[in-house]
Amino acid sequence: MTDRVRPYLFYAATTALCGTCLRTVEAKHVIEAGAVFLLKRCPEHGAQRVLVADDADYWRLGREKFLKPPEQVQKPNTAFRYGCPYDCGICTEHEQHGCLVLLEITDHCNLRCPTCYAASGPERLTHRDLPTIERMLDCIVKNEVEPDIVQISGGEPTLHPQFWQVMDMVRKRPVRHRMLNTNGIRIAQEDGFAERLATYAPGFEVYLQFDSLRESALQTLRGADLRRVRHAALDRLNALDLSTTLVVTVRRGSNDDELGDLLRFAVQQRCVRGITFQPVQDAGRNDGFVDSQHRLTLSEVRRRILEQCPWFQPADLIPVPCHPDSLAMAYALKRPAGNSPITPLTGLVPAEALLQGTRNTIAYERDAALQRELVRAFSTAHGPEGASAAISRLLCCLPGFAQSMVAPLRYQDVFRVLIMKFLDRHDLEHHSVRKSCVHIAHPDGRRVIPFDTYNLFYRDDLERTVLAPLRARVALDA
Ligand code: SF4
Ligand code: SF4
Repeated sequence: MTDRVRPYLFYAATTALCGTCLRTVEAKHVIEAGAVFLLKRCPEHGAQRVLVADDADYWRLGREKFLKPPEQVQKPNTAFRYGCPYDCGICTEHEQHGCLVLLEITDHCNLRCPTCYAASGPERLTHRDLPTIERMLDCIVKNEVEPDIVQISGGEPTLHPQFWQVMDMVRKRPVRHRMLNTNGIRIAQEDGFAERLATYAPGFEVYLQFDSLRESALQTLRGADLRRVRHAALDRLNALDLSTTLVVTVRRGSNDDELGDLLRFAVQQRCVRGITFQPVQDAGRNDGFVDSQHRLTLSEVRRRILEQCPWFQPADLIPVPCHPDSLAMAYALKRPAGNSPITPLTGLVPAEALLQGTRNTIAYERDAALQRELVRAFSTAHGPEGASAAISRLLCCLPGFAQSMVAPLRYQDVFRVLIMKFLDRHDLEHHSVRKSCVHIAHPDGRRVIPFDTYNLFYRDDLERTVLAPLRARVALDA
């Protein structure tokens, strides 16, 4: 008998990136003290240990239970030649189409946020011209046929000189749901701007940066006290009831204690259909901030939501099957239940029906249909406007009480909580990145790239300065 016992459970071998030189290295996932770590070893930069999840049970749910057959893009853009993630994309080996595809139309911005992954700011004056944007859009449509969600983004997209023409261009394409990713300054400050945006509804939603109710956190995350601007923008959107998602960049020590307050605030806003929490990605201007061993993981954000907001139980906030390592979601109805102003829906579905397919008293003989509908409802592939229909179908599988509670169900009645954690140089590993379902159109108009790898290898001149030497090394080794 040997005394060489490891202090962890070995979960699986994988490959990942060296956090320093970004070459592909051998790696493994291990479970220690209830947390999941990625252990890597680079021949040049030595051993590395990265916290992946602080709740191993939850992480394993996504790896082992919330699985669905991969849905690929209709038309891959690149061949698999140098190996993942040096062949984006979308290459033939990528396992998930784009549930949400970003269309970045400018690098310019009227803020200069310390957390900006795109390193945008007032000094950057590059706007994509309309023919370029047209090519980017056409590439998205070629990949997706009928894209679920196209999000117009930047920089600050509302500052593009031909912003309205871009909005028209996107509206003319067969896109199911269009989103505008904005810091809200123009909505707040320009009379008539929100009203003009509202003419693009239905099928249009504002994705409004909204990190905190406190000045100190806004100063840290955005470099400015934006409280008045944010509230003024929301007032205008509420008056129009224009569908809005509040987007919260979460950084440890800045606003991670405020998630419950933000949820309570969001539910009170007439126009708000949901809230998205995004732990900061170690990219762009934020590169180097994140401590690889004490990262704010998706599972920690989920745990903090549960601790800070009693409306949700653990069964309500579940992995999204498209990319469970990176996405968690809860759907609720904006209808009171007990002391809560909302009725969470996910927890209505028994875990056995969801996870093991066993029959039970609630799901009756329709548990197979129930599971199918649940995966559909919680797959971002169905897009926000499709959410109400998907939930209606899901609840049809449940007994009459649930049906009577929701009929008739409209998108305005739905409240969605999403946690979206992008991979970065520390936690990117090859099993996970191939399922990335948030994509971004490359300005060359020929490729769409997973968002996680775009900020590492494909944004601005990274392809020349960072990726080309890595590809050369792969070619040399071959
Ligand atoms: S991340 Fe996806 S698109 Fe990029 S190289 Fe890997 S499999 Fe291909
Ligand atoms: S995060 Fe958004 S608002 Fe801030 S600088 Fe970047 S593009 Fe501008």
